[in-house]
Amino acid sequence: MIDQPADATDDRSDFISDIVRADLQSGRVAAVVTRFPPEPNGYLHIGHAKSICLNFGIAEAFGGRCHLRFDDTNPVKEKQEYIEAIEADVRWLGFDWGEHRYFASDYFAQLYDWAEQLIDAGKAYVDDQSADEIREARGTLTESGTDSPHRDRSPEENLDLFRRMRAGEFGDGARVLRARIDMAAGNINLRDPVLYRILHVEHPRTGNDWCIYPTYDFAHGQSDAIEGISHSICTLEFEDHRPLYDWLLENLSAPARPHQYEFARLNLGHTVLSKRKLISLVRDRLVQGWDDPRMPTLVGMRRRGFPPAAIRDFAARIGVAKRDSTVELAALDHCAREYLNVVAERRFAVLRPLKVVIENYPEGESEILEAVNNPGDVGTGTRQLPFGREIYVEREDFMENPPRKFHRLKPGGEVRLRFAYFITCEEVVKDADGTVVELRCTYDPETRGGNAPDGRKVRGTIHWVSAAHALSAEVRLYGPLFTEPDPSPDEAIDPASLEVLHDCKLEPSLAALVVGEVVQFERTGYFCPDPDGTLEALVFNRTVALRDTWAKIAAKSR
Ligand code: ATP
Ligand code: MG
Repeated sequence: MIDQPADATDDRSDFISDIVRADLQSGRVAAVVTRFPPEPNGYLHIGHAKSICLNFGIAEAFGGRCHLRFDDTNPVKEKQEYIEAIEADVRWLGFDWGEHRYFASDYFAQLYDWAEQLIDAGKAYVDDQSADEIREARGTLTESGTDSPHRDRSPEENLDLFRRMRAGEFGDGARVLRARIDMAAGNINLRDPVLYRILHVEHPRTGNDWCIYPTYDFAHGQSDAIEGISHSICTLEFEDHRPLYDWLLENLSAPARPHQYEFARLNLGHTVLSKRKLISLVRDRLVQGWDDPRMPTLVGMRRRGFPPAAIRDFAARIGVAKRDSTVELAALDHCAREYLNVVAERRFAVLRPLKVVIENYPEGESEILEAVNNPGDVGTGTRQLPFGREIYVEREDFMENPPRKFHRLKPGGEVRLRFAYFITCEEVVKDADGTVVELRCTYDPETRGGNAPDGRKVRGTIHWVSAAHALSAEVRLYGPLFTEPDPSPDEAIDPASLEVLHDCKLEPSLAALVVGEVVQFERTGYFCPDPDGTLEALVFNRTVALRDTWAKIAAKSR
């Protein structure tokens, strides 16, 4: 056993951790260094969170460090806005890269030198073919490719052309630099892959210093080597690139020899986790923006009230495997619910109000009752809840002709108002269409606090809000973006994924809740203030409903 730093917390059990552990034990690596390498061409989503938790988690577990490295090699799609958003998201998730923030563009000069080195060694050449011609000559899985007519240029000619590419003598796409490997290789990635392309595009970091940019393949492994990455962890689609990753490192005077390992990306049911698709939802205004609470982006989930701890818990539970699978959206909700159930304070809010007039309660009077903030955590104390003659209850807590097992409000029935009194429904008031618009009830003053001195029991307990003190709010309920479990790229979003309720009635203490805080609206779900709201016009988002469909699914499959 090698000594691990005191802060290491190695209790991980996934195949990558097994590799890391073995590498430390055998002494193949002295220190664990991982990296999270986002391309700043969009906002991070829950799939990236899996990768972040894995890379930062491994580093932490083995007393190493994790770099944040922006893979900014394609200035056409990359923006400063995305760089900043990605940093904020990684921090919000609870991870810290310390001083280890890097950009692939930091290494452009070194990468360029390495390209010249390959040219000198006869291992790279400038090709004048167009992108289409190169694609056509690449061959297929069953047919080998055809050599470029420029494949046998001399190193001198290649060097001259490459330098002129760099000097800006040629237009976009006129020439590329390719590795000279093997046009008959079984792995298509080894059929003379492109290393550099001409792009006369300003770069968010290097401005107009460069008009040639390295490809992902040429930049990634070399960046890993420069930073001394010990384990370069990426998703399965890069498995076929690994031989090229290795070839480049073996054929350059790289300062270190990192290794790449692949794991299965996260797929989530009823949503899409491809940046391209997410960008199109934003661009076509099918959602409010990157932070639309229905989006699987971290900014969207934050706005919706998802606690970062619940996302980390989700990542830990889904684990890390080598085989692709899809996780139910309900599993993510389940993690939020479990976490919030412990930490979220309870509040009263009536989403679909029905007015109740308590006829024997003195007109014009009110009183203050005491309500428990979190029954699971007495330390959170109590709050004051005003009560009066007119209150609101949920429409669904009343039935005029209820089935036998309905224990809430019904004509002639008695129910407990939580933390308040027993009330009995005496009369149902309807409008001309027969819709119930009000209930006339009586209360038993002896039951203050919710218990009858005569020991009389009621079967149902419902929540309520005093009409005279209620805040009015808009409440937004969210469902999955897509009805299909595995939406196709052109699937239309489900219009029912957003339901807006107006004039919901909230207990007055909710005015003090700030953006970022999540509470349980008792019997309904977890909710948080939306930044769209103001004190005059409150807006709340439902993070998740209380009903745990995932628990049911899990129970069924047992
Ligand atoms: P997308 O495929 O959504 O366009 P991407 O993979 O191009 O995203 P990058 O910015 O290149 O996005 O990703 C940064 C890191 O996050 C990469 O290491 C990538 O493998 C990982 N990653 C991206 N999507 C997922 C996912 N769904 N599950 C796990 N890891 C992911
Ligand atoms: Mg990528």
